[in-house]
Amino acid sequence: MKGGLILAAQALCFCASLQGQSTALCIEDRVHLDARTRAAFDREIDTLLPESASAGCGVEALLVVIAFDAPARCPSSLGLAYSSQARVMPKVEVFLNQVLRALAGIRAPVPVGRALARVAAHEAAHYFLQQHGHDRDGLLRERFPEWQLGADSSAPFLLVRK
Ligand SMILES: [Zn+2]
Repeated sequence: MKGGLILAAQALCFCASLQGQSTALCIEDRVHLDARTRAAFDREIDTLLPESASAGCGVEALLVVIAFDAPARCPSSLGLAYSSQARVMPKVEVFLNQVLRALAGIRAPVPVGRALARVAAHEAAHYFLQQHGHDRDGLLRERFPEWQLGADSSAPFLLVRK
């Protein structure tokens, strides 16, 4: 009985936080992606976060920074979301050099753009859902096999909601 009540409370919180959350994305490209890489990035963001509008850079938007390198304190992170106390903050980052390392020899614009978008969407999902932890499957998995990161199929990166 007790377990059932806890689940119900979590479900309510989940709905409330989604409804209160803006899903506009503001992309700050500090690495100056070429047009084809950026187009692949935008397409994959649309696939993984279909309700997000990537045009908005207003006060309500989630800032997505594409930067060159992860901070020294977490040198192997592909991306980061930040939290302040209980709240995931409206700024996430994705790191080009760490993503390129994970892609091993792959440098073509489409897989690179896709891989950056998959990492960005993962971090964005932490914010949109206000979820600090990870899921067992889908977009909010903690780790992905490196070969999946730039591969054609978006399926492993879709958000799984029970
Ligand atoms: Zn994560």
